[in-house]
Amino acid sequence: MARQKKTLSADVAISADVAIAGGGMVGLTLGIGLAQSGLSVVVIDAAPQAELTEPAFDGRSSAIAHASCRLLQGVGIWPHLADRAEPILEIRVTDGPSRQFLHFDQATLGDGPMGYMVENRHTRMGLFARATELDNLRIIAPDKAVSFEAEAAGARLTLESGIIIEAPLVVGAEGRASPLRQWAGIPTRKWQYNQSGIVATIAHELPHCNIAHERFLAPGPFAILPLKGNRSSLVWTVDPALAEEIMSLSPRAFLAEVEKRVGGFLGKLKVIGPRWTYPLGLQFAQRYIDPRLALVGDAAHGIHPIAGQGLNLGLRDVAALIEVLVDARRLGGDIGAADVLDRYQRWRRADSLALALATDGLNRLFSNDIAPIRALRDMGLAAINRMPAAKRFFMRHARGTVGKLPKLLKGEAV
Ligand SMILES: Cc1cc2nc3c(=O)[nH]c(=O)nc-3n(C[C@H](O)[C@H](O)[C@H](O)COP(=O)(O)OP(=O)(O)OC[C@H]3O[C@@H](n4cnc5c(N)ncnc54)[C@H](O)[C@@H]3O)c2cc1C
Repeated sequence: MARQKKTLSADVAISADVAIAGGGMVGLTLGIGLAQSGLSVVVIDAAPQAELTEPAFDGRSSAIAHASCRLLQGVGIWPHLADRAEPILEIRVTDGPSRQFLHFDQATLGDGPMGYMVENRHTRMGLFARATELDNLRIIAPDKAVSFEAEAAGARLTLESGIIIEAPLVVGAEGRASPLRQWAGIPTRKWQYNQSGIVATIAHELPHCNIAHERFLAPGPFAILPLKGNRSSLVWTVDPALAEEIMSLSPRAFLAEVEKRVGGFLGKLKVIGPRWTYPLGLQFAQRYIDPRLALVGDAAHGIHPIAGQGLNLGLRDVAALIEVLVDARRLGGDIGAADVLDRYQRWRRADSLALALATDGLNRLFSNDIAPIRALRDMGLAAINRMPAAKRFFMRHARGTVGKLPKLLKGEAV
C-alpha cells in the first residue's frame, strides 16, 4: 500500500529486521534495545547527530523515572549517563503562595531515588555512545523517509537520499508531527492548552538537596528540578502572550522574575545558557499500529509536562515493544505480523491514555486561581499529605512502577 509517492533512483538497498524513523530519545533507545536483543536495526533521523547534542538544540532536562532507569540499565545505556544524572530524593508540591504542600520522600518507600534528572543532550550523548557498541545497529542521519509501502511480506521505506530499507516492521518515532502516522492515515485527538513552557537552567549558591519543587501558580506550574552541581532546571508555564513577553526580557529583568518565583531558599541565582519556550498541548493517536507499522513515543502520544512523564511514557512503549518483538522472534514468527502489533497496541494504548488524561486533569485543576477550587484543592493536598498509603500510591506512579510492567521496566532481562 503506497502512503506517499516520490520517485527516486535507489542507489542502495538495505535489509533489516526493524527500521525506525526518528532517532530521538525514544526511537534510539528502542533501536539499541532491539539490537542488543539480536535484531538488525536501522535508525533514521532528520537531524545531524552533532546538532542533537549541541547545547543550543534542546535546553530541556528530563525527569527519568526509576522504572525507566531500569530499562536504560538493561539495554546498556545507563553506564554512559550515570555520572551526569542527579537523583531526585524528595518532591515538594505547593499551591501558589499558600502554605499547603505535599511532601514525597524516597525514604518512605526505601527503594532508592524516585528518578533522576538528566539534561536531554547528555541523554542523547549516552545513547550515541551505546549505539556505537552495537554492530547490528546502523544510524542514518541526516536523512528522512519520503515514502512507506506496506505489503503482505514486509515494508519498504524510501529515504530522501535514495536509500531503500526493506524490513518486516517499520516504527514511527519522529515525534508529534510523525509523517509515518500521517501517511498511514491514523487520526489524532488533540488540543492546545493555551500555555507555553519556558525552560531555563539556573546556577545557585546553596545546594538543592536533591529536592524537586512543583509550585502551582495561577497561569500554570513552576518547577525547580535538581541538576548536577548547584544547578537546577526551571520549567515555567504561562500563557503564550506572557511567554512572549518573558522571552523578550533583558537577562537582568528575566533573572529578577525568576528570583521572585524561586524565593531565597537557593541563595543567589544566576541564569546560565539560553531560555527556550515550548507550546503545550495534548495529542493522542487513535491507533498505535497499522499494517507493518508501530508508533512509539510522542508520535503516538504527546502530553502536558506537568508530571514530567512524556519521555517516561515513550520508554514504556519501548520496553513493551522490545518484549513483544523478542517473544515473536523467539517463537520463529513474523515480527511485523498483525497479531504481534496488536499485542503491543493492547498493552500500551490504555495505559498511555490514562496518563494523558490524568495530566490533563491535573493541569486544569491547578492552573487557575478560582477561590473555591483553590480552597478545595488545598484541602485535598493537605489530606493526601496526612495519608501515608495515598502518598505511597502517588510515589509509585512517579517512580513508574505501577501497572502491567514489561520485563525491562522491572529490571528483568527479555
Ligand atoms: C518543557 C518540557 C519539559 C519536559 N520534561 C519532561 C520530563 O521531565 N520527563 C519526561 O518524561 N518527559 C518530559 N517532557 C516530554 C519529552 O520531552 C518528550 O515526551 C520526549 O522528548 C519525546 O521523545 P520522542 O523521541 O518520542 O520525540 P522527539 O523528542 O520529538 O524526537 C523525534 C526525533 O525524530 C526526528 N525526526 C523528526 N521528523 C523526522 C523525520 N521526518 N524523519 C526522521 N526523523 C525525524 C527528530 O530529529 C528527533 O530526533 C517534557 C516536554 C516539554 C515540552
